[in-house]
Amino acid sequence: MHRLMVVGIGPGNAVNMTEACRNALLGADAIFGYTPYLQLLKPLFPHKTFFGTGMKGEVARCRAALGLAAEGKVVSLVSSGDAGIYGMASLVYELSPEFPSVTIEVVPGITAAISGAALLGSPLGHDFAVISLSDLLTSWDLIEKRLRAVAAGDLAICIYNPASHGRRDHLKRACDILLEILPPDRVCALVRNIGRTEETYALTTLGALRTRQVDMLTTVFIGNAKTRVLNGKMITPRGYRHA
Ligand code: SAH
Repeated sequence: MHRLMVVGIGPGNAVNMTEACRNALLGADAIFGYTPYLQLLKPLFPHKTFFGTGMKGEVARCRAALGLAAEGKVVSLVSSGDAGIYGMASLVYELSPEFPSVTIEVVPGITAAISGAALLGSPLGHDFAVISLSDLLTSWDLIEKRLRAVAAGDLAICIYNPASHGRRDHLKRACDILLEILPPDRVCALVRNIGRTEETYALTTLGALRTRQVDMLTTVFIGNAKTRVLNGKMITPRGYRHA
């Protein structure tokens, strides 16, 4: 049986990597992934063979990993966070009919929404939605439609991919859409470099978020109507009554 493990490595630090992830990588003959993530893994798995690719090489990377697995090697393909959340898991399954001998297994990882939420306190304590502002594979019209829908539904929102080199103003545009429905004092937060040496977070408001600098390593949290700042943390109540 030929196996390809599609592995979420968590935010990037060893302690937030699951035991299942560690076992998959220790058992792999080859580890494929986006080059910056492999830099995080190399010191932890110094004797492994790594195959890195750049950002636009996703399809080729998945085919190469499936191809090597079809030759009989045990292969792991890594994504940061969870591989099923804006990661490689769905693409691997889409390409898998080309490699019928390969069995695919997904190993879950801690996604940025969850590791970021833990840093902030409890911003996702009730219903929430995750939205990516990347319009590389999704039209901006659809992103706008989803932003309006989740704002109308009073969901807390976790935003991935708030900016990239070519899309500096996406967060500002998203805030302007949300501000059509939500008040400017809505509690918000940014987390950057979760689990890495330069980890930081900041609390803010939706009105002020419009002009905040963000990059590809930032995840943004927008509270629901009940979200509050308590002792410097962002808390979305579950609704328990307490005196
Ligand atoms: N599969 C990943 C998400 C990949 S999309 C996961 O489950 O976490 C890339 C986006 O994820 C980034 O633009 C950022 O918004 C978020 N992200 C991933 N790792 C992060 C980290 N260590 N710190 C902050 N945000 C992160």
